[in-house]
Amino acid sequence: MTFAGIRPTRFWPAAIQPSDEMRVGIIGAGQLGQMLGFAARDLGIECCFLDPSPAPPAAACGPVVQRPFDDPAALAEMAADCDVITYEFENVPVAALREIQDRVPVRPSTAALHQAQDRLHEKQLFAELGIPVPAYRQVDSRNDLNTAVADLGFPLVVKTRRLGYDGKGQFVIRSSDDIEKAWRVLREQPLIAEQWVPFDFEVSAIGVRDTSGNVRIYPLSRNVHKNGILHTSIAPVVAPELSDVAAGYLKGLLDHLDYLGVLALELFVVEDQLLANEFAPRVHNSGHWTIEGAVTSQFENHLRAIVGFAAGSTDSRGHAGMINLIGAIDPAVRALEQGTLHDYGKEPRSGRKLGHVTVVSESAGERDRLLDIIAKTVTQSTRAHGSSP
Ligand code: AMP
Repeated sequence: MTFAGIRPTRFWPAAIQPSDEMRVGIIGAGQLGQMLGFAARDLGIECCFLDPSPAPPAAACGPVVQRPFDDPAALAEMAADCDVITYEFENVPVAALREIQDRVPVRPSTAALHQAQDRLHEKQLFAELGIPVPAYRQVDSRNDLNTAVADLGFPLVVKTRRLGYDGKGQFVIRSSDDIEKAWRVLREQPLIAEQWVPFDFEVSAIGVRDTSGNVRIYPLSRNVHKNGILHTSIAPVVAPELSDVAAGYLKGLLDHLDYLGVLALELFVVEDQLLANEFAPRVHNSGHWTIEGAVTSQFENHLRAIVGFAAGSTDSRGHAGMINLIGAIDPAVRALEQGTLHDYGKEPRSGRKLGHVTVVSESAGERDRLLDIIAKTVTQSTRAHGSSP
């Protein structure tokens, strides 16, 4: 039996018909690319990818050109073959994308990408838009670091302005003994020092803006990190005041950037205040719950927005929770009756995100009960494999 030529069953409103020719080029073929690829398949959109790694997760969803992310010939080929180019991570070389943006739309724009790549520019943009941030100082010299310590006090965190992720490129200074060490480790790059925020918890606001300028925002998710890596997300966070304020910040950012696609804004909650940490101009790990837990997933909405379809509803379908599977996926986790497992098909390695499990329940209490069962199994099996979660 062959299914060639048969579109997946899906209701399309009259105004939104999938085009047979629609082809999206995605820079990066990791797990986010894979999840975009799966969503594209359901929308009748073809995907191709650019990624230097052998056998990346998104190879399951479309052809991968195995070249560096800034390879001019590969990008030119993608520009010629695709209707729109997007990316699954924010450290894509902007200059390389600027070279092709007059031939093919790059969405989200290179301007948004450029802004997100530098923590200092990001903070300056937040300030310009009236979005509160932790106190910070630019650090370009040892002298600047001394001034930052004097101004911000202990503890403070020093971060590279560029190319940091999951807590990499960061050093927490807890006392004067740490200053020299932090400087030795990070001195080669432009830095930013931030006051260490004694936050109650972390949330992310994820939203989408489409070509008509419509903005739709998912319910807030509450995130727990371990060793700088996202461990668990739950949504919705039932806190109407926080949600409204976060939605206002996110809408301001999306409109200011004339943004197309999905954007994730990470915030610290300190009592009743929100402080912005950073934004990612892409789909985000803390939005994985939307695959099962929202009417339209972040992946579908990103694609809809960048190809010119109207963004879909971001309402939640219940109380969702997501646990990342880091370092190993044990048979005990695969055997769990609770939740939906997503295995990205990556080689196991300590500290590596290999998959996630999502649960959706009718009540927050039931969601938390199921998450607890899953978390215990994940922790036990990860310990057994000797990896750090
Ligand atoms: P980042 O790479 O900036 O997202 O940082 C990774 C994680 O480190 C965050 O999710 C927080 O848990 C923690 N972190 C980063 N910056 C701060 C800060 N200024 N105060 C407290 N915790 C922070």
